[in-house]
Amino acid sequence: MFHLLLAARSGPARLLALPAYLPGLEELWSPWALLLLFIWLGLQVALYLLPARKVAEGLELKDKSRLRYPINGFQALVLTALLMGLGVSVGLPLGALPGMLLPLAFATTLTSFIFSLLLYAKALVAPASALAPGGNSGNSMYDFFLGRELNPRLGSFDFKYFCELRPGLIGWVCINLALLMQEAELRGSPSLAMWLVNGFQLLYVGDALWYEESVLTTMDIIHDGFGFMLVFGDLAWVPFTYSLQAQFLLYHPQPLGLPMALLICLLKAIGYYIFRGANSQKNTFRKNPSDPSVAGLETIPTATGRQLLVSGWWGMVRHPNYLGDLIMALAWSLPCGLSHLLPYFYVLYFTALLVHREARDEQQCLQKYGRAWQEYCKRVPYRIIPYVY
Ligand code: NDP
Repeated sequence: MFHLLLAARSGPARLLALPAYLPGLEELWSPWALLLLFIWLGLQVALYLLPARKVAEGLELKDKSRLRYPINGFQALVLTALLMGLGVSVGLPLGALPGMLLPLAFATTLTSFIFSLLLYAKALVAPASALAPGGNSGNSMYDFFLGRELNPRLGSFDFKYFCELRPGLIGWVCINLALLMQEAELRGSPSLAMWLVNGFQLLYVGDALWYEESVLTTMDIIHDGFGFMLVFGDLAWVPFTYSLQAQFLLYHPQPLGLPMALLICLLKAIGYYIFRGANSQKNTFRKNPSDPSVAGLETIPTATGRQLLVSGWWGMVRHPNYLGDLIMALAWSLPCGLSHLLPYFYVLYFTALLVHREARDEQQCLQKYGRAWQEYCKRVPYRIIPYVY
């Protein structure tokens, strides 16, 4: 993460070269950055605690109970945007944020370490039924990393659910916006490439928060413990590396003509269409298989009583949502031109993440559904890209 932050602001901006210099501690550590981080986390906690339009129930846990989660993430995004707008109108220097990214990333990393240690300590006294299946190996380093407790909470405040979609995701688009404002200050107006990157990623974050409830059935919530991997990923990795394209564009402006911009928008639209179509189809089917939009789809019965979709998006490949996500990832990088590999880091990293995630999910589905899953794999032989993979 620090390599990417340093590379983006360096002249050559090379992904695969060692950084030209290593920053000293005085460049990394700033009490103001830590204070800003805590104000940010405090604001997001306050917005989480506001009354929600809906309270959703999670999947059944080992002890047969179900946790309840407030669905007010989109509201938190809108209120944050309003507060930002108000702040900027009374002189909040948002354009100064890019200059603080390094110490902010350092403060967030440090906070993630300490927070994960506290979570690990808390998990030592948690009942066995509260532990995550993978983070309970007895090897303390491994459990610290993967997360020992599945759903650590303080009262009704759920740490994992809070961190998954709020401070990091909303922080990511705020950093993007700050980079756009700084570009406008430097060059008179934001570039077309910067507008596209900001717009595309805002759509992604807005979508994740609008469909917040669907996070309750993801692997992160139902399977993975809350340890350093997710804490650091949610709080530090997402905002500081997912904003890499906008960081790159601030220091390395790229010309982008209208016809190319339109083609990139088309690619983003195709990616989003597949991503949203596939995710909504499965979520609707899991919630209510007789919903008219999914009732006509072909299915395979399983011994668990649940069914597997074998037509529609889920009949094309076994993870159509990953395909849409990858196409969108490419559309976020293309506005940065083809002169550097650095802005394509996200596409490379995300491909590796999704291939690994897909393999983990297949393993779990095979365990869950046995022969029905094998039958599904026979009927839908490709994993993510039709006729390729
Ligand atoms: P998925 O939404 O792909 O869910 C996988 C689950 O769906 C399986 O475990 C199974 O669960 C169910 N399923 C699989 N096949 C079928 C079928 N044919 N019919 C019905 N149900 C099926 O999981 P993820 O959590 O990995 O992804 C959610 C979204 O988040 C994706 O769009 C992904 O791209 C995105 N994502 C983005 C990341 C980022 O950093 N930008 C990181 C990770 C994910 P069951 O049968 O129990 O319902």
